Amino acid sequence: MRKIRTPEHICLLCKNNKANKKGSHYTPAGIIKRVIGERNYEELYTINPHNITTTKYYGRSNLLNTNPTIKKPEHVDDYIFCTSCEKKLGIIESECNNPLVRFTDQLIQGNLIINRTKQGKKFFSFKHPNKNVLTLYFFSIIWRQCLQQKEEFNTIFISEKFQEDLREIIDKEISKSIKEIENSTDFATYPSLIILTTYHKGDNSKNFINPNPSPTSPELFFIGPYDALIFHSQHSSLGFESKTGIPASMIDSDLIINFSQESIIGILSESAWTKVNNQLVKYVSNKFLHNITVKLSVATRMPYSYSRQKLHTVAHQFLAQYPDDYIRCLHLAFSSLSK
Ligand SMILES: [Zn+2]
Repeated sequence: MRKIRTPEHICLLCKNNKANKKGSHYTPAGIIKRVIGERNYEELYTINPHNITTTKYYGRSNLLNTNPTIKKPEHVDDYIFCTSCEKKLGIIESECNNPLVRFTDQLIQGNLIINRTKQGKKFFSFKHPNKNVLTLYFFSIIWRQCLQQKEEFNTIFISEKFQEDLREIIDKEISKSIKEIENSTDFATYPSLIILTTYHKGDNSKNFINPNPSPTSPELFFIGPYDALIFHSQHSSLGFESKTGIPASMIDSDLIINFSQESIIGILSESAWTKVNNQLVKYVSNKFLHNITVKLSVATRMPYSYSRQKLHTVAHQFLAQYPDDYIRCLHLAFSSLSK
């Protein structure tokens, strides 16, 4: 159940002032907005695999391939932060957003110098924004995405402790001047972070803004044209590659921004990027199908496997009417079967 917040609540970032600010972003709009580019990158989706009543979706007509339950962005909320925290976050954002948008454009145009790590992973690096400032910005987005999941879906993504540690880091660091942040040596001790992007040349580079719903260590966060990996445990989890679609070899210590000389962003190939997005969509689709099957099975007392088969059979009859909306077909199938 969604919690209702009022200006009388306490700011979720500083935990000190009243949360009097309206229209705060969980994922800042500026990082998502592109200056140029052929595709419409404004098309963004947040995913809630728990809520099967969602009807907005994006994907191909075959559910088992790619058809997810995906919502239009709801990345804005009222009364989560105070005016002061919002203003400080805004300063970090304005340091980072324009350069980040520029990098994605330069990558498309082939105007960036691409280097390789010792293990052969592609990256580009830069002095501005400073690596501590960039890290802080990504920390703030990761933390805000976790917060969104908690506020909207009551889901803890990594752990209460990790999210609280991250909040304390952000609260402390955003209170400093940019110069002080740049000179801080504390960032080497903060959670390790890898930022990734792709060339975004192809047609398949969809963009999402949510944590990867299948938990891993490091944990993957989708931030529009960037992906972030944050290390919340000493150990890499088994199945990282199968759960994220990201090659395990991309967990390359030379890509960790905390230990690099300057800001660094790793580059995934277009095909790897597509695979990562498809992995997300597949996970959500399967979860959606599972949830609606359980619901039908409970409502009709039909066995699970039979319910699932029936849903597909009846949904296919609606496909002629809604060829691009298999989720809708499944909802219609559910309605007709549960009568
Ligand atoms: Zn505050």
